[in-house]
Amino acid sequence: MPDVLQLPGFVNAHSHAFQRALRGRAEGGDFWAWRETMLELARGQTPAQVRHQYAVVYAEMRAAGYTAVGEFHYLGLPEAEAAVEAAAEAGVELVLLYVAYGRGGIERFRQESVAAYLRDLERLRLSGVRVGVAPHSVRACPRDWLEELGRYAAAEGLPLHVHADEQPREIEECLAEHGLRPIELLADCGCLGPRTTVVHATHADGAELGLIRASSSRVCACPTTEANLADGFVPVERLLHRSIGLCIGSDSNVRIDPFEELRELDGIARRQSGRRDVLTVDALLSIGSDEGAASLGIDAWPEIEIDTTHPQLRGAAEPLFALVAGCSADVVL
Ligand SMILES: [Zn+2]
Repeated sequence: MPDVLQLPGFVNAHSHAFQRALRGRAEGGDFWAWRETMLELARGQTPAQVRHQYAVVYAEMRAAGYTAVGEFHYLGLPEAEAAVEAAAEAGVELVLLYVAYGRGGIERFRQESVAAYLRDLERLRLSGVRVGVAPHSVRACPRDWLEELGRYAAAEGLPLHVHADEQPREIEECLAEHGLRPIELLADCGCLGPRTTVVHATHADGAELGLIRASSSRVCACPTTEANLADGFVPVERLLHRSIGLCIGSDSNVRIDPFEELRELDGIARRQSGRRDVLTVDALLSIGSDEGAASLGIDAWPEIEIDTTHPQLRGAAEPLFALVAGCSADVVL
């Protein structure tokens, strides 16, 4: 067996790098209590902090085997430019999923209009940054914003990423406001399509999954964050049953380890189905790499090397199997 195994780099399709600082200091309560702590942290971010801290987080991602990242960024334009510089320093391919935020949250997240948002996005594009359109959620974007953003992303051939169905309360609020569930509203507004990634979809019902399937949209699961935030279980088998493309994200960055994300996914699938063959090793590795790249609209990203002499792999007859079943990112060279 060679000492080194060459693999496509992992692709982290959903990250909020600043939230790395919350690990270990935002315990207790529920998702909404965590969100308050997160908003406090977000409120105080500066371009200089982003420039420094994101470089550290992206270097950690790079060391863990993620060679491309989709940064779902809602901290404003100067901070977006700082994030781009940080990723370049860390040697990670970045797609800036620049967030549209029309209401709620905190003031610094919000743009005054969709036109103002698109002006920022165009400015980033013109400076050579790879971007995606990212309506934050159906909570943060009213219907007319979603319609305009769906139209723009489709016309420009850009990825569109959006949080949806992470928590039951968000679904109840959407039903109360629109008479539709979040993914139904996204479909209605033209936000679903082959370049769309729905982040989480934890509580999506059958009709919503049908809409994702019919539009060839994808789902990004963020299992370690979803566990930490008490979101629920991503419906792995129901997604696979419908041939919905799946990718992974480290989201709040409470943990930065692609093997752990994939093993959580596999573990959920096994526990929910009572079977051990829902996801093959090839399928898991594809979810961890090329599905994420497709979600971000990139076709080239660096490979990684795995140390097969590492104690976690030494003597394993099938290193790829051992890799997804029992290794941490420590095996990445
Ligand atoms: Zn997120």
